[in-house]
Order: sequence, then C-alpha cells, then structure tokens
Amino acid sequence: MAETKRDYYEVLGVPRDADDAALKKAYRVLAKKYHPDANPGNAEAEQKFKEASEAYAVLSDPEKRKQYDQFGHAAFDGGAGGGYGGFGGFGGFGGGFDSADMGDIFGDIFGDLFGGGRSSRSSGYNGPMRGANVQTSVRLTFEEAVFGCEKEIEINYKEECSSCHGSGARAGTSKETCSKCNGKGKIVYTRQTPLGTMQNVTTCPDCGGAGQIIREKCPDCRGTGYITRRKKLKVTIPAGIDDGQSVRSVGAGEPGVNGGERGDLLVQAVVSKHPIFIRRDMDIYSTVPLSFARAALGGPILIKTVDGQVEYEVKPGTQTDTRVRLKGKGVPSVRNKNIRGDHYVTLVVQVPERMNEEQRQALRRFDELMTGKIDDGGDGKRKKGLFK
Ligand SMILES: [Zn+2]
Ligand SMILES: [Zn+2]
Repeated sequence: MAETKRDYYEVLGVPRDADDAALKKAYRVLAKKYHPDANPGNAEAEQKFKEASEAYAVLSDPEKRKQYDQFGHAAFDGGAGGGYGGFGGFGGFGGGFDSADMGDIFGDIFGDLFGGGRSSRSSGYNGPMRGANVQTSVRLTFEEAVFGCEKEIEINYKEECSSCHGSGARAGTSKETCSKCNGKGKIVYTRQTPLGTMQNVTTCPDCGGAGQIIREKCPDCRGTGYITRRKKLKVTIPAGIDDGQSVRSVGAGEPGVNGGERGDLLVQAVVSKHPIFIRRDMDIYSTVPLSFARAALGGPILIKTVDGQVEYEVKPGTQTDTRVRLKGKGVPSVRNKNIRGDHYVTLVVQVPERMNEEQRQALRRFDELMTGKIDDGGDGKRKKGLFK
C-alpha cells in the first residue's frame, strides 16, 4: 500500500539534494548488490532491486524528480503503491531499464560480476539469467602447485528439484494462474489527481509478479524448485598454479533462472609454504650451506631441487652469498608446462662451530701458511675455525 512505500531518497540512501552523480553511484551499488543475476531465486533481493530501480528511474529524471519532491508518491501513485511497475501517467517509463543511462550502469555491474563479455544485459529480469559464479578454495602443497595434480573437492551443489522439475508444486499438481492479476503478474490502478489521470502499475501482491500461484508446495524442495546437495568434484590443478590463482569449473556454479545457463565454480589455490623453497612467479629460491674448505677448494656438492637432488660443481674460491642458477629447475608456466623457470641457489659459507684438536692444528698450520706468522692458539676466537 501507498503508506508502506519507502521514500525514494531513503531507498537510495542519499540526501534530498543529492546530485546526479551521487544518485547514480548509490543506485549502482544497490543494483549490483541486489541484481537477480547475483541472487538467483531470491525474491527479497529482487524486490529490493525493483525498489531501487524505480527510485532511480524517478530521481534521475529532472521532471519526475520535481513532481516527486512536490507530491511525494502521490504524484505517481493511484493510491495503492507497490513495487516497480510503469509510470504511464508521465510517459517515458513504461517498463524496462534500457535507457542509455541504465545500460551504462548495467554494463559496469556485469563487468564487475562476471568479468565482462556479457551480452544479455538487456534481457531484464524475466528473461533467461545465468546462474551466479560460486567460489571455493583448495589447499595444495608446494609440489602439487608446481607439478599440478587432481584434487577431489566437495561443494554445495544447487540443482533443479527432480520431484517437481523446478516448478515448486507438489507432484501431480501444478501451478495455478493467479486470480488476482489473471496471470499478468501486475495490477494497473488509475485515478484522477490534480495533475490529470494517473496510472500506476504494481506487482501483484498475491503472486509476487510470477502470475502463477503454488497451492500445494513440493515437499522435497518446500516450493523453491531447487535442492542443494553435497557433491564431490574432481578438479584438475594445472602445473605452475600459484597461490591465489583460481581454476574454473564451468557449469558447477548456481543454476540459471528461466533457462539461463549455470554459473561457474572458481576454485582458488591456497598453496602451503615449503620448508626450504621460496617461490617467486616461475622461479624458486633456496639457500645451501657450503663448508669453508669446499668453498675454498671447489668441488661437487648436491643441491635439493623440486626434481630431486642435482650435482653442482662449486668453483674454487667461492665467496659466501654467491648465487648460482640452475636453469629450468623452477616452476612450469601455467600456460605451457614445457616452459620452466629457474632455481636460484645462494651458497652460504659456513664456519665450523666445533673442531677437534687435529682439525684445530690443521687450521693453525693453514693460517701460518696464509699469513706467514705463527699463532699460539691461545684465544677462543681462533678456535672457531674450519675443516670438519
Ligand atoms: Zn520440488
Ligand atoms: Zn498475481
């Protein structure tokens, strides 16, 4: 009823002197939040969406806004307000959101919701609508992300109720045409006002605009037409996926409405840290300790990589923090697993913390040979030497 109809400024949450940009911004936020594509089957969201659309349609039109500011809802209302309908009395808003301005807004909304590329934005909310995308995540070890794997995940899968085939009516019964609106889903009111004959079209309160009424609800889906069950799903994780990246499972999202296709499931990878490897894009970094003697003399060492241990020939006289590159031992490209990053190893020269007497003597001898002086070995610092 007219009394329960909310103030348009209140609906959009803007002050009465809001400019066009503020109106547009407020409407965009609401339309995105409540758009039926983002809330399939949610009647409350649809109602909110209609309410916001109606408020914006009036307030964004200077002429209608003036009328509204002066007469309130009475300017458009035949005395029995309701949801979005038409504004026949003032012309130009007979139903539909396809003014250039609305199209522009929906372009943005769909861009945000689905990453662009939609074409059905002018279908309105009675045409086929694609189901919403659903997000979930899967935990992977470092190696699973590097080499790819198959993962079984469990999701909530909403689908058409098989008992009623989505109608929501108990098996053996069917939906009935709404007698209040004769199946049209809307009701037209006319009345005389100081401005002339006003016509207002409102959504039928009995059927909520559907034009049909379910007398006996399907017990399996409680009249919603959908059931949700746990479903196991195999997801192929491509080699090279990185933390935060998602795999798309086409059609595993929410079901579409009015014959629209299903949305997708986006499975986001949460990759565990590795005890020794650090990944940056396609490259792997690690640190390998190197004995003083091996650093000085050079020779082969074993280095751990994601492919297992590889032998590396240390050059004589290698300094600490020397970085070596193991070409092609990094992470495969997520697009082409034959292309791989590199593994960078930082060699850290270690000073032995404990030595036996024989080792100490050898080191003193070494020191003597290097400096030409004899050290008496009396101080503790000198004992921290080399050669295990
Ligand atoms: Zn059912
Ligand atoms: Zn009805």
